[in-house]
Amino acid sequence: MRTKAVKRKFGKGGRKCYRCGSSKGVIRKYRLFYCRRCFREVAQQIGFNKYS
Ligand SMILES: [Zn+2]
Repeated sequence: MRTKAVKRKFGKGGRKCYRCGSSKGVIRKYRLFYCRRCFREVAQQIGFNKYS
């Protein structure tokens, strides 16, 4: 029985930014899956003030 490894789950983490789909520097804080860039913008909208 041969099994082809076709379906592979994402390697490290497998987190993708909800917003732009980037998997680089995704932040999981607050259960929000955004990359650093988007997080910064979203954070302001949501109400996380002074994110630095
Ligand atoms: Zn993003």
